[in-house]
Amino acid sequence: MEKQRRTASRSCVEWVAGHIDDPLVRLRFLKMMAPPALSAGGPRRRLLIRLSLLVLPALLGSVFLVRALGRMEPVRPSIRPALPWAVPERKPPEIWLVESAEESETYSNGLRIDNRFSTRNHPRSYLAFPAGPGSKAGGVGRTEPAGIVFHTTESRQAPFEAAQNGSLKRIGESLLEYVQRKRAYHFLIDRFGRVYRIVAERDAANHAGYSVWADEKWSYLNLNESFLGVSFETETAPGQFDPAITPGQERAAAVLTEMLRGRYRIPAANCITHAQVSVNPSNMRIGYHTDWASSFPFERLGLPDNYAQPLPSLATFGFEYDPSFLHRAGSRLYAGVEMAEESLQAAAARSGRAPNAFRRLLQKQYRERLAEVRRFSSDAVEAFE
Ligand SMILES: [Zn+2]
Repeated sequence: MEKQRRTASRSCVEWVAGHIDDPLVRLRFLKMMAPPALSAGGPRRRLLIRLSLLVLPALLGSVFLVRALGRMEPVRPSIRPALPWAVPERKPPEIWLVESAEESETYSNGLRIDNRFSTRNHPRSYLAFPAGPGSKAGGVGRTEPAGIVFHTTESRQAPFEAAQNGSLKRIGESLLEYVQRKRAYHFLIDRFGRVYRIVAERDAANHAGYSVWADEKWSYLNLNESFLGVSFETETAPGQFDPAITPGQERAAAVLTEMLRGRYRIPAANCITHAQVSVNPSNMRIGYHTDWASSFPFERLGLPDNYAQPLPSLATFGFEYDPSFLHRAGSRLYAGVEMAEESLQAAAARSGRAPNAFRRLLQKQYRERLAEVRRFSSDAVEAFE
């Protein structure tokens, strides 16, 4: 009954959202009507949402009134906290390989990598494009990892307790065999915090599918080739706020991230989650995958809060989102969506175009770059074979 009520009010909210032309106003309306799971709020917030649902008919009327009047109030630039790349970058300490045995490696920061499930794929090779919406320059060939994408396995979980030790080990091993067969990630961190190398870092792994990211200088498409994939054996819920990992996984991820950043000179702003990069080119929507949508513990891994970056999928490549995305995403990822919408509108204004026309232009540019990346990748794979 409760579920039916929630579904009905959600489709009502989505229907109203669908009639708001201005993307930023639509986004703020959705945020206001978001279910409790989207934020860290408690019963007070739930009460607020129920009250909001009571005034929905009035809101509906005002949407049509505003539409009839023409445009909604223009968005004013707001003061934002400094972006992670504007913050002086904390240099990772120097870390070195202490010992390399047949089946494992030990590093000076305490990191231990188990190589028993390690495998090869095709060598890493990708195009990086000069960043900035509207940049027309072509791609530059590279082979070094540009960043890290964090994932969750969303696999079967046994209760994390001593009595379940046998099941925990059995489930973990079958997961390792599965991700090795699929060449699914570069690293997997099991529930005991043990780090396994799956695909060698010099190779691409099948972890990110269609995906995009951009830093202050470069933009990247299809991150299987350009970013390392690190996955946690865990299962999460939509809109979740607290990280669903064990203390051992958190410590292991911190030392692994530190080592990878130092060894490959990876900027902190390029250590992000799958939910921040995943796109679907067939409908030009973000959020095809939403693992680590809002609960990734950036700060506890020695990274800046990278949820506080405008999402390049929207700001640089003109992707859109549907209301259901915000239900699955959560409040921290929402902040990146909102900043990206503001950034896109400001860039559109500078170019003298309407936001929607500007967005279409960015989407066209994305498709052209995707075609370029596909040509480059098929040439690279052919050369490898
Ligand atoms: Zn993922």
